Amino acid sequence: MNLLPLPAFSDNYIWMLHDARHALVVDPGDAAPVLQALHGMGLSLRTILVTHHHGDHVGGVTALREATGAAVYGPAGEAMPEPITRLRHGEAVTALGLRFAVIDVPGHTAGHIAYYCTDMDGAPLLFCGDTLFSGGCGRLFEGTPAQMQASLDALAALPGDTRVCCAHEYTLSNLKFARAVEPGNQALLQYLGHCESLRQAGRPTLPSRMDTERAINPFLRTREATVAQAARGFDAHVDPHEPATVLAALRQWKNEFR
Ligand SMILES: [Zn+2]
Ligand SMILES: [Zn+2]
Repeated sequence: MNLLPLPAFSDNYIWMLHDARHALVVDPGDAAPVLQALHGMGLSLRTILVTHHHGDHVGGVTALREATGAAVYGPAGEAMPEPITRLRHGEAVTALGLRFAVIDVPGHTAGHIAYYCTDMDGAPLLFCGDTLFSGGCGRLFEGTPAQMQASLDALAALPGDTRVCCAHEYTLSNLKFARAVEPGNQALLQYLGHCESLRQAGRPTLPSRMDTERAINPFLRTREATVAQAARGFDAHVDPHEPATVLAALRQWKNEFR
């Protein structure tokens, strides 16, 4: 089984899994790069998984369904291009012989879901859409900081070798913000250097690993004293014992960070 990120728009990745015959894609915001990859590799698209309703994640769904007849799965609680099979937390979908468990991760949007697979050769796979980014997290468009904190806690609890397949290449800008939050975090400084080399070589920084994210991503580190203190420096209302207040301050700080 092969895993590859298809670049779309300016910074999206449409994740593709294929076994050299059949393919699955996640969050095809645009049909063109998917059709090009299918034709180029002689693959037939079987399955489309969607994490949330934003246009840069669903924009290509209808065209791909019409062109390939692929089955489409998405969140139960969001407006979706019909027809679609809707999935709730704890349910699973089987595609390409792999089982993908559905995890509710509200915060970026109200009904956002993630897909987690332990069946693939090598390490587990996580398709987390716009909830968790390498070094960051999604903006809180529809959810509360407490919801996002709970969603990130659920993802951070996955095994350390989980391959974290985020939907955007935001890593460098996230890590520069993370460095402002934790200037003394050596793992973070080292990882920033690693990701800068990857980008200079024109390569994706993704997938990341969950143990790396736990070490370098301030949004997964809201219980760390250094992170809570930095957040308090930005917003005096932060309660270091309430991780959601730390997350809220970090998110606001990141929104303003240049
Ligand atoms: Zn989004
Ligand atoms: Zn997006």
